[in-house]
Amino acid sequence: MEYMKITKTYFSETAHIVRKAYSERCRFNVHGHSYSWNISLESRKLNEAGMVRDFGDLKAIKAFVDLFDHSLVLWQNETNNIKEFMNDHFHRVIIMKKNPTAENMARAMVQFTKDFLDNKGITGLKITAGVRETSTGYAESMISDNDDVFYSLTDELSEDLSNLMSRYWDTKVLEGVKK
Ligand SMILES: [Zn+2]
Repeated sequence: MEYMKITKTYFSETAHIVRKAYSERCRFNVHGHSYSWNISLESRKLNEAGMVRDFGDLKAIKAFVDLFDHSLVLWQNETNNIKEFMNDHFHRVIIMKKNPTAENMARAMVQFTKDFLDNKGITGLKITAGVRETSTGYAESMISDNDDVFYSLTDELSEDLSNLMSRYWDTKVLEGVKK
């Protein structure tokens, strides 16, 4: 069976803290990476334009990544002192319900993309999200229409995301995306 696969790459400069990481540098310091975010769509057939999907239709995914650009990503389990301080003094703070590892960022991206495509009525695609944190570290998350959705975007990102969305995202771009 023939499959076609297309991939688009987006970039962000993002800071985080990874509690429970083996490396003390990651565990105890706010630090940043030049992230690259890949989104891949696979299909068994092409549309009438000869494409798996035109990425021009998928601007919300670019907007999703842009949300992370020059943002600080914190785990919800950080102390209230830290979360309040960061939110009081910085504009772009994202609180994740899970530890902000490349794996969990990839899960958030794949779920966001699936929600977005489902809401647009686009089905039949296998979605892979890959997040590269360093030149040697890469995490991928995959989902297809046949998979049960075992988590949702709101499992990954806290409600604070909706505040950031409304502050920084073009609502037209997000039309059809579940809040
Ligand atoms: Zn890191």
